[in-house]
Formats: sequence, C-alpha cells, structure tokens
Amino acid sequence: MLVCTDGRIVRIIDTVKDRDSGAHLHVTEDGAPALGVGDQVTAELDWDRRYQHMRMHSALHLLCATIDGGVTGGQIGTEKSRLDFDLQDTALDKDAITARLNELVQGSHPMSHRWISDEEMAANEDLVRTMSVKPPSGAGRVRLIEIAGGVDLQPCGGTHVANTAEIGELRVGKIENKGKHNRRVNVHLINP
Ligand SMILES: [Zn+2]
Repeated sequence: MLVCTDGRIVRIIDTVKDRDSGAHLHVTEDGAPALGVGDQVTAELDWDRRYQHMRMHSALHLLCATIDGGVTGGQIGTEKSRLDFDLQDTALDKDAITARLNELVQGSHPMSHRWISDEEMAANEDLVRTMSVKPPSGAGRVRLIEIAGGVDLQPCGGTHVANTAEIGELRVGKIENKGKHNRRVNVHLINP
C-alpha cells in the first residue's frame, strides 16, 4: 500500500506492466484517494504475504529442478502454485516428486543471485527453463539465480528465500493433463 504524508492510505490490488511504456502500474482499489503529481508517498510491503510468495516461488525452482521438461507456464499463490511442463506420455510420480522436493528443502541449500552480461546469456541459452518467458535482453545484463549444490541455475527476476530450508515442507497435489504436450503440476506449502 501507499501511505501519503497526510496519512491517507492507497491500497494496491495488483501490479501490471504497461504494454506501451513497459512501466509498472500499481492498480488501486475502488474508491482509493486520488493522488496528484508531486504527492509524496511511502510504499509499505505486506511482508507476510511477500514472504509466502518468496517461499512458494523458491519452491517452484525446486520443482523445475526436479522435473526434466521445459516450463510453458505457471501461476503462483500464497498456499498453492503450479507449473506447466512440456511433457507427453510421461508418468509423473506424485510421491516421488514430493519426496525429492522435501529432500531439497531439508538439504538447506543456499540460494543466491549474480549478474551476467547479455553476451554470456546468449552463449548459454540452455540455462533458460521457462520457454514462455524469455529473459529480457538489451539491458546489458541478466540476473541469474543459483541454488547451491548444483540444484538449479537459471535467469530469474523474482523474489527468493536465502536458503531452501526456509520454504518448509511441500506436497505435490494434482498432476493434470492439459493437452497432449502439457502436464500441470500443483504444489502446496504444508505450513503457509
Ligand atoms: Zn525465481
């Protein structure tokens, strides 16, 4: 939310990217106080919600590292998230994936980021796991997320925990067939 210097509060219900300018637009709730050019505001994070998203998003990196298939889509929530994999006729074993995910959580692998140049990224295209979202190029550099111990390394601009142990216990839910080349894997935080 945005807190104005006079105490008024503007709640943000969504953040979207403007197609034309590429700017990030904060969508305010209905009836929020109107802001004028030059108004000073302080942005305040809903830390509990942010931290759940950080844990969930980090869990999806583990899922990505566990299932050998390109990622074609996904959705993140505070308790449940999913990734779609480009796989066909593959029997994914829910219990085996759950066990592997929890092994990676309990392994307490540090997660860190570093930057590489556009040129290094172009020379290492196999790092890209998410086919539907290419890492932005042209900014001169790309942010890489690494899960230590050889678990995962890929470009990502998201928010992550510092160690896989912070994610906590995970459970794989439904695995759905969404078309011939699409397996949707749902994953839940046991203690959101
Ligand atoms: Zn990420």
